[in-house]
Amino acid sequence: MSTETITWVLTPAEFAATQERAAKINTRAAKRGFTGRLEVTGVPREVTETDEAGLPRTRTVVDARITGEAPSYNGWSFLAAVDSIETADGHDFILRTAPGIEESGVDRSQLVAGRCQHCNTIRTNRRYTYLVRNDETGQTVQVGSTCIKDFTGWQGKPIFLSVDEISEQLEDHIGGLSAGRPEYSPETIIAAAWAISRLFGWVPASATGRTSTRDLVVSYLFGTSRGDRELQRDVAPHIPDAAPTARAIIAALLEGLDGAGDYVTNLLVCLRAPHVEHRHFGIVVSAIAAYERMTGATAQRKAEAEERARQQAQIRYAGNKGEKITVTGTITRLMPFSGSYGYTPKTTMLVIVEGAGIAAKMFTAANWAWEVTQGDQVVIAGTVKDHEEYNGVQQTVLTRPKLVSKAPTAAAAQDAPTDD
Ligand SMILES: [Zn+2]
Repeated sequence: MSTETITWVLTPAEFAATQERAAKINTRAAKRGFTGRLEVTGVPREVTETDEAGLPRTRTVVDARITGEAPSYNGWSFLAAVDSIETADGHDFILRTAPGIEESGVDRSQLVAGRCQHCNTIRTNRRYTYLVRNDETGQTVQVGSTCIKDFTGWQGKPIFLSVDEISEQLEDHIGGLSAGRPEYSPETIIAAAWAISRLFGWVPASATGRTSTRDLVVSYLFGTSRGDRELQRDVAPHIPDAAPTARAIIAALLEGLDGAGDYVTNLLVCLRAPHVEHRHFGIVVSAIAAYERMTGATAQRKAEAEERARQQAQIRYAGNKGEKITVTGTITRLMPFSGSYGYTPKTTMLVIVEGAGIAAKMFTAANWAWEVTQGDQVVIAGTVKDHEEYNGVQQTVLTRPKLVSKAPTAAAAQDAPTDD
């Protein structure tokens, strides 16, 4: 068995909790007479990965390991507990090293099964010994566990804790931590907030009756429900454009945001941080609003968002389930989905048509869905399959949708040749 450096990959919050736990183990061990010290050290590292929606995300993890100082009693440092075990061809040793001692630093060739160099005996039934080193001379000595108190001359029995035992205690603790949420970089959070606020309008956390941009960002980054996955698929294609915008927003705010007060200070602290905890997401998301206030873009966007909200508030479910209906309106969303249906990979198109107080949503593999574009005025006929609320909007889900007619777009009408 090996006692090579134990490494955990933890979230920053788990790492902090593990360090706290280690401090408690130290305090308790010191009360029992342990003179060593255990330390959990960590190096933060950024992980950039692509999620199933194709979106790049950056989060921070901590590579943690146990180190510290070996216990020392009357000038003798305890390098390792040496347990000898019988094997087919004689014996072998299990080393349990002390904190701060690398197993590679222990010379196994010096070990003898069942040996105690204090009483100068070798007994085959002596299984537990310690390897100790003189702090001044560097001399190493193997001492039986029953002789160790006499050997060191320490009042009370020397206490030894190995890295293995400590890591076991810490691992139990880590296992009991509530599932650590990843912590994302401000850039990832702001890119998500930017894309989401372009798609659904900016909704402040104080808004009632509508899901705030902050909550949608949380759903987007952490959510696992069906609705969350739909949101993730809607937003993901907009992230590549949003990422450079997020970088520009951060740079502009760090450079130009001024003003007194906790809000400004806290926001700037979060924007400079390599990663942000879940509970600080709200303030990072608000960078969008702070940026727009700073650049004066708020008024126009507010008017657009209000107009869109006003239109969406008038939307009601249409038809009864199973009823055939016709919807006249504008294609507001068009997005291909690749999926597996049975054994056949297949791409379907999500189409949302809004108009006349109706929002119709449909998935279709029909050719017409690839021939229309967002913004087209269309008439669609289909059968009502379901009524679903999506982000506060009453959507009517259609099956077997057919394109009845498509009005020429303004641009196409201008380009069309005239007969007269
Ligand atoms: Zn002895």
